[in-house]
Amino acid sequence: MAMTLGTNLNDAHRQFLQAFLTLGFVERPEAAKLHQLYCQLHKVHYVPDKLDDFINTLNGQLQPLSLEIRKGVSEENGRTYYALVNLAETEITLMASDYSENELELFKKTKEGEYTLHLRCVLELEQYILRHYQDSARKCHVCHSLSIQSQVCEDCGIAMHLPCLAKYFQAQREPRCPNCKQFWPHQIPDINLPGPSGLSSTPQETRRSSASPMAQRRQ
Ligand SMILES: [Zn+2]
Ligand SMILES: [Zn+2]
Repeated sequence: MAMTLGTNLNDAHRQFLQAFLTLGFVERPEAAKLHQLYCQLHKVHYVPDKLDDFINTLNGQLQPLSLEIRKGVSEENGRTYYALVNLAETEITLMASDYSENELELFKKTKEGEYTLHLRCVLELEQYILRHYQDSARKCHVCHSLSIQSQVCEDCGIAMHLPCLAKYFQAQREPRCPNCKQFWPHQIPDINLPGPSGLSSTPQETRRSSASPMAQRRQ
């Protein structure tokens, strides 16, 4: 397949995209490392902390292909990930989407035994889910992205991701709904916000399982 990418892209962008075609799903620190590595490798201007700008430039050129590298925060551990997602919204594309049987950790079992959508899937299917499951899928009041696992205000119905509300309530004297100001009756989760000590087993599992089926498909 011949693919001509625009002139705004340099070789660092191209290699970064290539890495995402293989990996699919990358945690932020790793993406930042790739950004630095490829800029240095190809001797192009490298600005630390401008990873999102770098990705936005790339996304501008991916638009006609209905592809995008999208940023998301895990509902489970509050860490930031990037995923290469397919934005074409037709049912056919969704069915042809590249999830293999193995990757039916599309639905992942949580500690509590509930099933939750894998973040990569959430990023890709966000628009579809919001359109087709308007009753159960909500947008997080804090970060405005799709929220599957969330707490919902019993008074006004707004939803918040667990990491988002944990962060929000940390700065509040009393747990009150940010929308209607009623008392927040749910237990506020004690979530390790991103940091070197906030390790859980999830990112490792995620990386392993999303990388291997992608790698097979490349062959
Ligand atoms: Zn949120
Ligand atoms: Zn409320």
